[in-house]
Formats: sequence, C-alpha cells, structure tokens
Amino acid sequence: MAHRNPAVKDQVARFMRGLIRRNEGETQFHQAVREVVESLMPFLLEHRPYREARILERLTEPDRVVIFRVCWEDDAHNVRINRAWRVQFNNCIGPYKGGLRFHPSVNLSILKFLGFEQVFKNSLTGLPMGGGKGGSNFNPKGKSDREVERFCQSLMIELHRHIGESTDVPAGDIGVGAREIGFLFGQYLRLANRYAGILTGKGQNFGGSLVRREATGYGCVYFCENMLNRIGDGIKGKSVAISGSGNVAIYAAQKSIALGAKVVTLSDSSGFINIEGGMDRELLEFVRQLKEERRGRIAEVADRFDHVSFHKGQRPWAVPVDIAMPCATQNEISANDARVLLNNGVRTVCEGANMPTDLNGAHAFLDAGILYGPAKAANAGGVAVSGLEMSQNAQHLSWSAHEVDSRLQTIMLDIHKTCVRHGVENGGVNYVKGANIGGFIKVADAMLAYGIV
Ligand code: NDP
Repeated sequence: MAHRNPAVKDQVARFMRGLIRRNEGETQFHQAVREVVESLMPFLLEHRPYREARILERLTEPDRVVIFRVCWEDDAHNVRINRAWRVQFNNCIGPYKGGLRFHPSVNLSILKFLGFEQVFKNSLTGLPMGGGKGGSNFNPKGKSDREVERFCQSLMIELHRHIGESTDVPAGDIGVGAREIGFLFGQYLRLANRYAGILTGKGQNFGGSLVRREATGYGCVYFCENMLNRIGDGIKGKSVAISGSGNVAIYAAQKSIALGAKVVTLSDSSGFINIEGGMDRELLEFVRQLKEERRGRIAEVADRFDHVSFHKGQRPWAVPVDIAMPCATQNEISANDARVLLNNGVRTVCEGANMPTDLNGAHAFLDAGILYGPAKAANAGGVAVSGLEMSQNAQHLSWSAHEVDSRLQTIMLDIHKTCVRHGVENGGVNYVKGANIGGFIKVADAMLAYGIV
C-alpha cells in the first residue's frame, strides 16, 4: 500500500533517492528495499533510537561483497569463464546464511535484493542466523553432469576462503539442488581437510537434514493454512495455482494435495500446465522425476496426461483459483496479473518464491484486503530447516523426519504470530508490514547493542 500520509511518503522518497544514488542501476535491490521501507517508515518515525543510530542506512549496506572469476573447461575442452558473488549482508544475529543461485540472469542487484530479504527472513525464524546470498551467472541448463561438477569445484576453490560453520553457511536456490550441493561439499572437504557443516541442503548420508528438501514448499503451505485458520477457514477443498516446478513448487504442491486442496497449475520458464480436476499423486510424481531426475520441460506432462493442457509462454495467473502460490522467481506477478487474479476471485496469495510480486501487484493485493503472505514470512521454512540442519551438524546428531517437520510447523506458526502481532491494521492483518517490522526489530536491537560498527 503506497502511503497516503505525506510525512511518511516524503521520508520514504528521501531515503530511496539516497539508496538509488548509492546503488545505481540495481533495480531489484531498490525494489526489495522500497517494499520494506514503505511499511517500516511509520514505525521508524515513532522510534527515535533506530533513526538516530541510522539503522536503516546501515542495514541496507552489505557488510561485504566478494566478487570472483570462475574458470572451468567444458566437455569440448573450451575454456569457460563465469562470474560469481557472495554477498555477506548482515551477521548481527548469527552467521551469514542464504542460498547460492546459478542462473544466467544472476547479477549483483539480484543477489543484493535476495541477501537483504534474507536478513529479515532469517530473523523471523527466531533462529540465530544472519543474512547472505550468492551465486553465479553460470547456466546449468544443457550442461553435462561433468561440466556442472567442474564448475562447482572451481567455484569452491575461491568460495571456501569465505565460508565456515560460524562464518557463512550457503545452501541451494534456483539452479542449485542436491547435485550441485554434493559437488560443492565434496570439493570443500578436499580443500579444507575438515568435515564441517559449511553448507546446508546436503545429502542425508553426509550430514543433510530430513525434510530440508521439502521444507520451503511445506512451510509455505503451513503459512497459508495459518493465515486461513486465523479467519476460521482452511486450505482443504480450495483450488490452488502454483507457478514453477522446481524444489519449492513440487513440495508446495505435495503438501497442498495432502491437506485436501486442488492444485490446478504448475509452470516452468517455457509456459504453464493446467490440470483439469486437479493434480493427483501419480501426476506429481511424474513431474518430480521429470524435473529432479531427467531435467525435462513441463510440456511433457501434457503429452503424457490427457487432462493436462500446456500453455506456451504464459503464466498461470489467468486460471480462476482461490489461492495463488508463486513459486518460480522474482517479479512473476505484475500489477496486471494481480488484477486478473483478484477479478477471478483469488482471496489468498502465499509467496513461495522470493519477491514474486512486483510492487504495484503487492499494492493491489494489500488494497484489496485479501490474505497476502509475503515471501520473507511464507518461504522462511527452507532456511529454518537449514538452521535445524546446522544444529544437528553441531551436535553430530540426526533428528527424525517427524521431529524436523513438527519443529518446522512450530516455526511457521511462530512467524505467523509475529506477523499478526506487528501487522494488525483496520481489523485485518497486513502481513507485509508485520513481517517487515517483526524481522527488523531483532536485528536492529542487536545493532544498537553493538554500537557504531
Ligand atoms: P529451482 O531451480 O528448483 O526451480 C525454479 C523453477 O522456477 C523452475 O521451474 C524454473 O523453470 C522456474 N523459473 C526460474 N526462473 C524463471 C523465470 N525467469 N521465468 C519463469 N520461470 C522461471 O528453484 P527453487 O524452487 O529452489 O526456487 C524457486 C524460488 O523460491 C526462487 O525465488 C528462490 O529464491 C525461492 N526460494 C527457494 C528456497 C529453497 O529452499 N530452494 C528457499 C526460499 C526461497 P526452468 O526449469 O524452466 O528454469
């Protein structure tokens, strides 16, 4: 919701002018900060110590950014060069924590937006984790396993100097799944000659946690259920449009189906599939194998199942549904998509991906007063279970799937409570405001305690 109070509007505009000047051209970073500042500014105007210590200015400047070259050799013996980054954003409440993304679109702006969001998200989990993010413009699509292995090994040669179980603990994100984490961890062991939980999302036989793979998708559905339960409703029987067909989307679909919802769409970067009557477990398993094991395209699902249609180059948001769960990538719901969703009767939007809704789309959801669960709250389940993986590694123990899942449910419930506590507004809950203020306070108070550092 854009501010109607002129004093707040003025302060937001002033702050953003400075930020844009200092970070020229970093549009995704500007967008992520603006979303936070719009809801945080009224709170800051009422809390002088945060303003006097210039917490917001400090919080929007990463602690450091490491940028490095990654050279590797492809299968045809050509020398290839990529760029990689690690953005160590803020470690006031714990080691830097956040995923690595491999995608050709990766640049400093995207990683700063993700790192900034991660600071708030990790704080909301209640676990001792700071925020960071990293990745490379390497495109894993179409590469052989050996090429991916050589790239990961080369990347770790530099990255290993900057990470550690109490320093910075990366995980997966777009383009970085179990295969890549395995290659990265193996190379770390070789370089450091010590076994330590310096990455999360590891395989279960070498220090990974049960339920980590499912955690972001499951957590998103738990958060959705929490929002609905608060108004005496539930996900059971509701129709759900999910975008993406990667790690987050697959397990959001799995948990939605398990809780009795009807999942009618999935997508990838080539288009979306519409599943008439909703997805069953057989279809979901087909998608899981297609994406996780064969790395195929979503159109194949329509070739295989008669009740599935493929819509090339389109997003799923014109399909009328009760709930939308964007689980692919940033800015995949525009203001126009938001209007179409609202006109078709959507009443709940729960974000599995990071910043999937652009600013005008988010304003449209907030103005409509629907249940709108922003990414930093709704998709925090992944990093929460990463935090639990770090605890298990530190204790040299493995917890059961039941134990991890029940801790995940409790964490999502607590995040929901925090959002409600700070987000009550006009008889409803503004979850964007609740998540931003709830995530901010813990980090800001730590920064105040540390003095001017
Ligand atoms: P995956 O790589 O497993 O899957 C990404 C999915 O999104 C794929 O279906 C991919 O399609 C699609 N996609 C990626 N880029 C685009 C694009 N530009 N346009 C359309 N579709 C696209 O990634 P994850 O599932 O891990 O991540 C998805 C989102 O969730 C990201 O925003 C990530 O930051 C966020 N997230 C992930 C967490 C995790 O634990 N993995 C934790 C918290 C947030 P295609 O295969 O065609 O590229």
